[in-house]
Amino acid sequence: MLQTRGVEHYHLTGNFAVSTWLGPALFGGLSDAVVIAIERFGWWLHILTVFGFLCYLPYSKHLHIILAFPNTWYARLSAKGHMENMPEIQKEVRIMMGLDQPDGNAPAELPEFGANDVFSLSWKNILQAYSCTECGRCTAACPANQTGKKLSPRKVMMDVRDRAEEVGAAIASGKAAKENYNDGKSLFDRITAEELHACTTCNACVEACPVMINPLDIILQMRRHEILTQSAGPAEWLPMFNAIENAGAAWAMSEPREGWRE
Ligand code: SF4
Ligand code: SF4
Repeated sequence: MLQTRGVEHYHLTGNFAVSTWLGPALFGGLSDAVVIAIERFGWWLHILTVFGFLCYLPYSKHLHIILAFPNTWYARLSAKGHMENMPEIQKEVRIMMGLDQPDGNAPAELPEFGANDVFSLSWKNILQAYSCTECGRCTAACPANQTGKKLSPRKVMMDVRDRAEEVGAAIASGKAAKENYNDGKSLFDRITAEELHACTTCNACVEACPVMINPLDIILQMRRHEILTQSAGPAEWLPMFNAIENAGAAWAMSEPREGWRE
């Protein structure tokens, strides 16, 4: 309204479909000075509300609004179906196939494979957990969830975030040190083996996420830890593992692996 009245410093910037009618209806009887005072009050109220909300954001569940930007910036650009190899396992397979030689300097103790807690996940996994908007698109697209399995990729992300919060709070309060942190718990207390085994690694959750989060990466890392480090896993899978180890293929056939191509 101040613009249409031609008040100094309030330059006309265009036509206002609503304000043209609403302004005079509400403030038409007031002097320029009073309307300017109301306008200044409204301007400062808005800007202080925005700044106040920005300060509150890091402590609220709306933190994902800020983290969505770096999370998208650092999103993986390789094909969504690409799975990271484990170099130690790859080397073993190559030695088994006669493509590589054993390394004489290799450490006697096997490394830990996969992840069982937030410490063994990458910083990107944790950033993704805090960037999750909890929209549920991933779970809606998950074929395991649709067929009644216990798995929910949305819950996986929330479990990782909740575990990070639990560990962070214990370290911040001085109850535990970051080095060799051990409270007797792990991600397996929140994400069960049943959930991990239900995943078909189809990548539908990765495709569906609007902020480029990858729940499958965490599921894969936990499954690798369960199978390779804990030597656990469903008994039904053992014949398949043995067949891969002995015959080089999931089916325990004595034919050369590539024979099926013929
Ligand atoms: S990759 Fe796993 S968690 Fe993701 S949609 Fe497919 S089955 Fe569900
Ligand atoms: S689709 Fe992405 S943002 Fe939405 S709940 Fe799943 S992981 Fe979180």
